[in-house]
Amino acid sequence: MSSPEAKRLKPNSDNMSGPKAIYDAATSSNFELYKSDHAASISDISSYWSELANSKLDWYAPFPNAVSGSFEDGSVSWFAGGKINVCYNAVDRYCNAPYNRGGETAIIWEGDEPTDTKYITYLELQNNVCRVANALKASGVSKGDVVTLYMPMIPELTYTMLACARIGAVHSVIFAGFSADAIADRIEGAKSKWVVTASAGKRGGRDLPLKNICDAAVKKERCVGIVEKVFVFDGMVPNGSGWIEEDIHVRFSDLVDCQRPVCPCEWMDAEDPLFILYTSGSTGKPKGLVHTTGGYALYAMHTTAKSFGIAQQTGPSNGNAPVYACVADAGWITGHTYIVYGPLLNGISTFMFESTPMYPDCGRYWDMVQRHKISVFYTAPTAIRSLMRFGDEAPKKYDLSSLKVLGTVGEPINPAAWQWYYELIGNSKCAVVDTYWQTETGGHVITNLPGVTPMKPGSCTLPCYGIEVIVLDPVTGKEITETEAEGVLVIKQPWPGMARTCLGDHQRYLNVYMKPYPGYYFAGDGCRRDEHGFIWITGRVDDVLNVSGHRIGTAEVESALVAHPAVAQAAVVGIPHEIKGQGICCFTTLAEGFAESDELVKELRNAVRTHIGPFATPDMIIPTSALPMTRSGKIMRRILRKIAAGELDTLGDTSTLLDPSVVGTLSEKVEKLR
Ligand code: ATP
Ligand code: MG
Repeated sequence: MSSPEAKRLKPNSDNMSGPKAIYDAATSSNFELYKSDHAASISDISSYWSELANSKLDWYAPFPNAVSGSFEDGSVSWFAGGKINVCYNAVDRYCNAPYNRGGETAIIWEGDEPTDTKYITYLELQNNVCRVANALKASGVSKGDVVTLYMPMIPELTYTMLACARIGAVHSVIFAGFSADAIADRIEGAKSKWVVTASAGKRGGRDLPLKNICDAAVKKERCVGIVEKVFVFDGMVPNGSGWIEEDIHVRFSDLVDCQRPVCPCEWMDAEDPLFILYTSGSTGKPKGLVHTTGGYALYAMHTTAKSFGIAQQTGPSNGNAPVYACVADAGWITGHTYIVYGPLLNGISTFMFESTPMYPDCGRYWDMVQRHKISVFYTAPTAIRSLMRFGDEAPKKYDLSSLKVLGTVGEPINPAAWQWYYELIGNSKCAVVDTYWQTETGGHVITNLPGVTPMKPGSCTLPCYGIEVIVLDPVTGKEITETEAEGVLVIKQPWPGMARTCLGDHQRYLNVYMKPYPGYYFAGDGCRRDEHGFIWITGRVDDVLNVSGHRIGTAEVESALVAHPAVAQAAVVGIPHEIKGQGICCFTTLAEGFAESDELVKELRNAVRTHIGPFATPDMIIPTSALPMTRSGKIMRRILRKIAAGELDTLGDTSTLLDPSVVGTLSEKVEKLR
């Protein structure tokens, strides 16, 4: 290939001495083993997953068949007919023989204040989960009911999720930063009779009036008549605000405290729903996805072990168990799979973090790594970039030598942030795992594996076991068989962790994921496959630019911008352009110590020309103090597209937009440049 696009494949992987070295060093026998194991795993998915399901999970009744159904009609099911309980597998079995891990730490909790920590053993977890389960049952919650959770990052959140799993209720966790409207939509969507909240939460030194927000939600007309009880954990925050005794409220802490710590598990069909969770809303109205029991549990457990290089703990750890910390919020899929279910299903201890990376200062993460001797640390590119902005001083103050694996998720990580994470946080010794996945996939689908497959900064690398990743030509829909390829990312065969439907709207599920390229699961992301077969996510398919006939990924232009020391974060969108069809519009926030100037804009324009080529020269560069972000910390390019095009009256769903005032500020800046 000789197009500009094809030439760009090489520089990504070879231009930097570090990554090249990393690539070569890891081309080892383990990598060869991965290749043959991966090929075997996708040649017979049914045997691959059923062997794992039988050896890794405890079943109450065996499943007759591993997989059935098809993508086309969205009928895929895994292990149907098998009976299992996820809470039993994540908690009870580790308290008993042969594991005997009842006295080992299940949860390390660190509150908003660094001095506020708790260690909860597996046995304590079991007792607490049973108490909550009994309290729910005593209040009328039964198998199949949807329980909405709007809670701070406190252990009670994990207890309640597991208690639901224990009694067969379906949890629907809503991130505790959402507004009353967003809660009301989700309660209405799931016809959820039960809501669990807390009197208040704490984050970054501030009280969050969770119960008040919840009250406002359940009083909305669309929720009246749906919600029967609101269970309120109180007492964890002094002066918990806004307690008003009404029929609907239950003082949950009191009710839980007086329950027996024993509650039998409800044996569920593997295909019974385990939870509902909404996507981030980066590309449109959030989708409520339904995950089921057996397949999700296996996928969460397996990917946690493989991606982070962790072994299932099968006996007492004698003090040398890994300290695993995913600092996401349990309100997102990352929290569901990699704080709650994945780690506990492996019998390891998991970290729950209530605060923010900036509280009390920008050294909080690194202080926690030092104090808890964290060995696996998992966060998002947005957090890494915002910490980079404050320079190298903070991480250098702490002993980070316990770290072995560093993970990233949520967006493409630009090579500059990758390098900072690798060199400064990992002391050039840790594996950085760039995990690509979605709420819909339930767990990682593409990532390098520590010590097994090589890494390349900015590439999520290679498919997970059991996942057959294909690159399709976006126009013809045909598979591109050459190693070097650019197109849309699809998955060819079902996997156990995939979401089964969109809540109450199976047609939407089919339209979004299954219909665009019949016979494949369509992820909605564009990608490029390089000469080694490594995947580079180029951005959402809707975001790929077509500038004078050149396809340019937004992620690529953003990487070029963020590589400049003045740029903290960049977001790139297309704007209508008379000659080129589409022009390139870049929004950037600046690093500490840099100011907006014409000179800087010129420099940034040149940086993109040098990194990618003159055909990718930006038409507009707009420095700003903030970008529109989802509450999960992702850039909302669809809102930026509207701002850049001056179409403020058709912004679309803004319920997950963190700070709506950004829209006005940015559109003023755009107007000035027109
Ligand atoms: P919505 O589906 O509502 O638009 P969303 O796609 O942001 O929101 P999530 O399920 O939270 O909701 O995010 C999944 C998406 O995040 C992926 O489709 C991909 O675009 C992006 N993503 C996640 N991890 C990575 C990664 N490691 N590299 C590149 N992109 C990633
Ligand atoms: Mg999505």
